[in-house]
Amino acid sequence: MDNYLPGGLRFFVYSLGCPKNSVDTEVILGSIVDDICNVTLVQGPAEADVLLVNTCGFIESAVSESIERILELIEKKREGQILVVTGCMVERYGDELVKELPEVDLFYGARAPQNFKEVFKGFLQRRYNGNATLRDTTPGRHLTLGCSSRLLSTPWWRAFVKIAEGCSNHCTYCLIPAIRGQAVSRSKQDIIDEVNELVGLGTREVTLVAQDVTAYEDNGNLLYDLLRDLLAYTDISWIRLMYTYPGSIDERILRLMAESKRICKYLDIPIQHASDRILKSMGRKYDSQVLERQLELIQDMLPSIGLRTTLMVGFPGETDDDFLILQRFIEKWRFHHLGCFIYSDEEGSAASKLYNKVAPEMASKRRAALMELQKRISADINASFVNKTLDVLIEGKSTETDLLLTGRSQFQGPEVDGVIYINKGMAEYGGIMPVKITESHCYDLIGEIV
Ligand code: SF4
Repeated sequence: MDNYLPGGLRFFVYSLGCPKNSVDTEVILGSIVDDICNVTLVQGPAEADVLLVNTCGFIESAVSESIERILELIEKKREGQILVVTGCMVERYGDELVKELPEVDLFYGARAPQNFKEVFKGFLQRRYNGNATLRDTTPGRHLTLGCSSRLLSTPWWRAFVKIAEGCSNHCTYCLIPAIRGQAVSRSKQDIIDEVNELVGLGTREVTLVAQDVTAYEDNGNLLYDLLRDLLAYTDISWIRLMYTYPGSIDERILRLMAESKRICKYLDIPIQHASDRILKSMGRKYDSQVLERQLELIQDMLPSIGLRTTLMVGFPGETDDDFLILQRFIEKWRFHHLGCFIYSDEEGSAASKLYNKVAPEMASKRRAALMELQKRISADINASFVNKTLDVLIEGKSTETDLLLTGRSQFQGPEVDGVIYINKGMAEYGGIMPVKITESHCYDLIGEIV
């Protein structure tokens, strides 16, 4: 019996950044349950044995938030507690962090969450034998091969499923390829097994995530093959796609989406911009013509699809004319959901070496103008749902009032889009119910179960 291994550990967790990172947090915790001891998630740092911050290191503001959370836990840390920092910021800043944050007991990178158990075990043994700090970033690539255990952090009826790691697109403003490596896809069978396990736990909706899900390739199997086989070999109710790369969504995928009720009529397609000059400077592998053809194809084959996009304003060299092109593009194509970020000059990115940086005030003004435009478009699209009946995944009581249930339709992605408030009718959490929309707002809808 390994005396240094505890019977159980209480974890307090900050999981920062994107859904891919929250899957990594779940895999890290799952690996401990698998191999070391039982894990209980606690609501407050004071009750915990281990304080874990899974960081995001994508852009400066994310790095600042990660540092803030770590410093908060350093301040609250009690004698005997273990403070663990993992994720992209460790991958990006490695040794600097060890020097800057001596209060942190264990640092671990972002590339092999399922192997955390080995490093943690080693740490517990060294600690038991009186050793101090350890930093570990497992070299090379160990994608989540085989169905690594996960301690699900999402409600049981929904889960993110990471289908690939890393990215090979090398957009000039992005450090992800440097932080997470080149794109590597999980095996198709591995993903099918994971989804079947999730269905066994009662999961109704899986959202497939990666840096670029359309780059999925496993021994000649592409995203189309994965979707076809998830429909054939699992009973999952809803399959949702996020992070598709513009220009890479082909007719086969769209036909499969059109023919199957189980693939959400929803696509997250981050276009970033619409000015050819800026798209080229961003290193995006498409221009506005490709974008237009892609959106035409999508709307021809799936007229009522819910489209989400992400934009970036303030990219070096962006002029008023470039911005006008972007505004007109958004007015024409009317995305249901839209997020807009301001360019961030990231040390080490190719774009940080570009001239003609845009003044922050101008970038903020452009972002505000786009969000104002989108508010009108979103309100308009939402108004078109009134008197329609939608299938809604019931997600529990509204945080605003117990009188309301909330849920999402296939047009609304988890954690990023609006929701549907249900003010009439009862339903079980995790159920998919017909809801008649009675009222619409900019981002949310109101309805009753019919
Ligand atoms: S597609 Fe571009 S922005 Fe997205 S993760 Fe890859 S390199 Fe970064």
